[in-house]
Amino acid sequence: MTSRRPALRRSGARKLNPPGRRNTISSVFLSRRRLIASAARPLLSQAAPYALRIVVTGGHPGDPECGCGGTIARYVELGQEVTLLYLNRGEGFCGGASLDRCAAIRTAEAEEACRILKARAVFAGQHDGGAIVDDPHQEAFARLLAAQDPGVIFTHWPDDTHADHRAIAALTLTAWRDSGRKSALYYYEVAEDTLRFAPDEYVDITAVESRRRAACYAHASQQPGKWYPKQVDITRRRGAESGFTQAEAFLRHPESRRVQFP
Ligand SMILES: [Zn+2]
Repeated sequence: MTSRRPALRRSGARKLNPPGRRNTISSVFLSRRRLIASAARPLLSQAAPYALRIVVTGGHPGDPECGCGGTIARYVELGQEVTLLYLNRGEGFCGGASLDRCAAIRTAEAEEACRILKARAVFAGQHDGGAIVDDPHQEAFARLLAAQDPGVIFTHWPDDTHADHRAIAALTLTAWRDSGRKSALYYYEVAEDTLRFAPDEYVDITAVESRRRAACYAHASQQPGKWYPKQVDITRRRGAESGFTQAEAFLRHPESRRVQFP
């Protein structure tokens, strides 16, 4: 988990279209929401209508939960398998505890977060704050990612402020290209680290927001009270854009196929 994130105003869909002022952007977004909701309905009415393995890669324990926790919960409700693939075990910071204890503390936090989300934790074995993107590390990461047999991959936005986020985004992108782009590939955002992000897919997380919150608060050493509210500000803003109370938003890689979202 990183400990930095942007404050955004709380907003609702109505704020896009105040009384007496027509807002065509709002109409476009609401149309898109209806389209998404309509597309999702057949999935939601059936248990596990298709098998799909989801992998969310993250720079640190807590990042996948922060950026995608609601979407992970929605996928799991549909019977899909979700793996959270962490680049490291968060060795670089665990609150007031000594650094030699951080890997154990944060591994336990990640495993508890995954238990809450009913997902699986996998660790890529790099060191927090010292990500390496060279041929041996790329090959090892590609093998690990391929072993998960993902149908959909979510990863950090390549312009995140944290170097570990950019590193795993690069490792994921290269592995995905080298695999022949078999999976779908989408980017996610985390508060304060993600800059210039313009998403094109939205997932309604309103009903599962409390589960995302519990998963994020499992990372107690990262002081979630300081940053979780900022992530909620983001998902409220994304909700206002898409017509939901809270939504997580994603950007498809331009070379990726599209998939149906939950
Ligand atoms: Zn991070």
